[in-house]
Amino acid sequence: MPDLPIYLDNAATTRCDPRVVEEMLPYFTETYGNAGSRNHKFGWDAEAGIDKARERAASLIGAQPKEIIFTSGSTEGNNLAIKGVAEMYSKAPAGSEKRGHIITAIHEHKAVLDPVKRLQKQGFEVTMLEPGQDGLITAEMVKDALREDTILVTIMWANNEIGTINPVPEIGKIVKAHGAIFHTDATQWVGKMPTNVDTDSIDLLTWSGHKIFGPKGIGALYVRRRKPRVRLTAQIEGGGQERGYRSGTHNVPGIVGFGKACELCAEEMDSERDRLLALRQKLESELKSRIDVCEVNGHAERRMPNMTNISFGFVEGEGLMMKIKDIACSSGSACTSASLEPSYVLKALGVGDELAHSSLRLSMGRFTTAEEIDYAINEITDAVLHLRKLSPLYDMHMEGIDISTIEWASH
Ligand SMILES: *Cc1c(COP(=O)(O)O)cnc(C)c1O
Repeated sequence: MPDLPIYLDNAATTRCDPRVVEEMLPYFTETYGNAGSRNHKFGWDAEAGIDKARERAASLIGAQPKEIIFTSGSTEGNNLAIKGVAEMYSKAPAGSEKRGHIITAIHEHKAVLDPVKRLQKQGFEVTMLEPGQDGLITAEMVKDALREDTILVTIMWANNEIGTINPVPEIGKIVKAHGAIFHTDATQWVGKMPTNVDTDSIDLLTWSGHKIFGPKGIGALYVRRRKPRVRLTAQIEGGGQERGYRSGTHNVPGIVGFGKACELCAEEMDSERDRLLALRQKLESELKSRIDVCEVNGHAERRMPNMTNISFGFVEGEGLMMKIKDIACSSGSACTSASLEPSYVLKALGVGDELAHSSLRLSMGRFTTAEEIDYAINEITDAVLHLRKLSPLYDMHMEGIDISTIEWASH
């Protein structure tokens, strides 16, 4: 019996690896200098810690240390990349129209969609690509959307709700051949899958510490320095840290922890990928064999090894979440101020509202064990089968009645 509750929400955040914490600790109480203090040992030591972290972060994605800008996480990284490019490469002055064209997709993370929407209000034109049922944005879709005035394409690498993997290297190649700038929110990808910004044709790449077993409140933006040299308009101004792109006193312990998290990911990536893929395959195949009307969302193969998103027909979403209280995971519902809305990502794939509500995102990580997955399989199966005993619709389905043809009496 595993310890309860079981944590299967690693796409939301991860446990900080104790080895990361250990690396960070001296930077709170011993090496506590300001890395900007250039005239004493406290400052030099803090700076040395940052330099080492920058090398580790760069090495994880095949970049040069100078190309790494430390941020507070992916939300800030995406904002800096998107707004920074738009302002720097705008084709017309602020306040006017036709400032340039931006391409993204409707099922990106809000930390991409909201900055893009703001730019749209400020006079930039935006194309929102729509995925197929498999959840993927193809290189063809991007190619067809490119225009002469396209300045930026921002397409995520792996989707945070369904784990689908966009063909980023192919998209990057097309965008770069066109002369636009290519940004990818790689928060769910980097640290888990091999990444090389050169061979993958990436100009700007965002990732975050707390999704890769590092601390919260720290992340990085990769900014290409040659072929081409990408420039950004700073979004946070002040002391000129991080090549002027991101002012503010360095979060030294956070940066050191982020660097260590990157190093551990690089070392353990291959074995972790295989281990988690086997667990994911077991989770999916067991649930599918024990439960009928149960669908894995997103492309069958092009998905991250550590997560799955499954819809269960004929169960009520909230009821399902209540029944599996010992499993910490996410549902296909998003809580807004007024109501429970079906996930906009599942909607983008054409999943109906009912089915979206009764979907689970189960995301594993470095600390997930085989025993925990076995427990989750049993718990979820029991919950779904129990709820279905209470479902008249499920009975009708079993009797062979096509629910979609029923005309419901209105009242
Ligand atoms: C978690 C996440 C973010 C936000 O990252 P923070 O570091 O929490 O700001 C952005 N994009 C994706 C794809 C994510 O999974």
